[in-house]
Amino acid sequence: MPAYEYICKDCKKITEVNTSYEKKEKGLDVTCEHCGSKNVGQYFGNMTVTATFPLH
Ligand SMILES: [Zn+2]
Repeated sequence: MPAYEYICKDCKKITEVNTSYEKKEKGLDVTCEHCGSKNVGQYFGNMTVTATFPLH
């Protein structure tokens, strides 16, 4: 079962979610495990993030 990482836009912490690819494609309802926020986005790791979404 793959693990996906989501980064919370409120507290900037990573929440790791273990789920199947199928469930992920159908849309996961991810909640930040640190602060309970729903304001999370998938986190692809530093290299990919730098390539696709340059951080300023
Ligand atoms: Zn959070």
